[in-house]
Amino acid sequence: MNIDSSPSPPILLLEENAAGADSQSGLAHNPFQDGVLHRHMDYQPPSVEEGGGCWLYLEDGTRVFDGSCGAAVSSLGHGEPRIIDAISRQLNKVGYLHSGHWRTRATDEYCNALVESTDGAMAKALVLTSGSNSVEACLKMGIQFFRELPIPQTKRVNFIARAGSYHGTSLATLSVGGHLIRRRPYEQVLSKVGRVSACNEYRNRREGESRAEFVARLARELDDEFVRLGGDTVAAFIVEPVVGAALGYVPAVPGYLRAMKDVCKKHGALIIYDEVMCGMGRTGYLHAWQKEKVAPDLQAIGKGMAAGYFPCSAMLLSRRVAEVLYAGSKVLAHGETFQMHPVACAASLEVLRILRNDELLNNVLKQGAFLKALLETKVGRLQVVGNIRGDGLMVGVELVRDRITKEPFPAEDAIAERILEKAKAKPYSLALYNSVGCADGFNGDCILISPPFIINEDEVKHLVDTFYCVLVDFFKVPL
Ligand code: PLP
Repeated sequence: MNIDSSPSPPILLLEENAAGADSQSGLAHNPFQDGVLHRHMDYQPPSVEEGGGCWLYLEDGTRVFDGSCGAAVSSLGHGEPRIIDAISRQLNKVGYLHSGHWRTRATDEYCNALVESTDGAMAKALVLTSGSNSVEACLKMGIQFFRELPIPQTKRVNFIARAGSYHGTSLATLSVGGHLIRRRPYEQVLSKVGRVSACNEYRNRREGESRAEFVARLARELDDEFVRLGGDTVAAFIVEPVVGAALGYVPAVPGYLRAMKDVCKKHGALIIYDEVMCGMGRTGYLHAWQKEKVAPDLQAIGKGMAAGYFPCSAMLLSRRVAEVLYAGSKVLAHGETFQMHPVACAASLEVLRILRNDELLNNVLKQGAFLKALLETKVGRLQVVGNIRGDGLMVGVELVRDRITKEPFPAEDAIAERILEKAKAKPYSLALYNSVGCADGFNGDCILISPPFIINEDEVKHLVDTFYCVLVDFFKVPL
């Protein structure tokens, strides 16, 4: 099989596309013919045989362009030999060790490199196993921090979080999460948290309000929430610097992080950044907060950390937090069996090396700007496109029923999911991701575009041309 990464020509066979729509989706399959618990039991996704660069190859030989890296994970593309080598070298040395009893060079080197990458802002790293676990660890560390102070502040157990954010799948992370659809089945058992508006310029900035006024209003809202809860009861405010799947790749407006951090400081609380989706180079900065140089007290990373070659995540502690822990009990209350996994560290260290050696952050900025500009000129002229936003190779295209009023399509129309299915099928063969409920928590469709950092200009053109054809076909736009 040829797995070169050159793009296919744009596909313009609009009349023919319906034929392929269901051919790979397996919608008619018997749900009990195998033992796999699929996410939707009536839907058997196409089977991928292998990947190479920005492409996936299905069992039937179809070549699919990876326009989203799953959920912004496979940031270095597929089949990257240097990461595979790094993993196999580590496995040939040692696979697993209990990190409370043993250490490995891989773990030392990775944690040092990660801390160094933060320009001195963060002092310690704990490698974990999923984004949810890293956010959970940050929340717990937030509480522990106040208990470890020379004069403990044991009342500080509350959190403030934002509407329209997703922070993970455990009960604590769902509690801070503001993604209503994902919270809904568990509402009764979720903990109460303070809630403030998202920094969503498209939906929340008022007519005639400047960006600075918008930020000032959000800062007042956060300040009011601290006061409502009792400022001395709040451990931390948690923020995604660029909101991922819940709102659809929405970056904070300039000045927002600084203003929020100042409010937290005023009330003596910590600020946690959830960079699980937007971190590790996705925005063109290794850490999304480096764009405005406003560092957090605690930080969670995940997804792109090992570029999907190994499931892992990490919690980063600022020097201040690490020093308080050291002066206190010195003992981390959070612990997991697989933490500091040597293979996770070897893979993630190689990802950092590749990002640096291949100057991929520059490519993310360059191709990200090109991607956004091309989407704006080509896709942006379609009436259903309400907003195109994002940072680096993290671009969301929000679809609306009415461009003027920004009215979303109703949730029951499942617009984004159906577009993803059409894109995935022949003749388009384009893998995308989506956000649901981005307008008001339940309604609203956003298509998420987050290709591998190795994408080139021809591949960006292929991605946008194909996506445009999918939308034209789906909405039956006359050409
Ligand atoms: N935080 C953010 C911002 C995410 O996007 C996600 C996953 O989508 C998580 C946390 C949870 O990560 P995981 O699914 O790896 O547990």
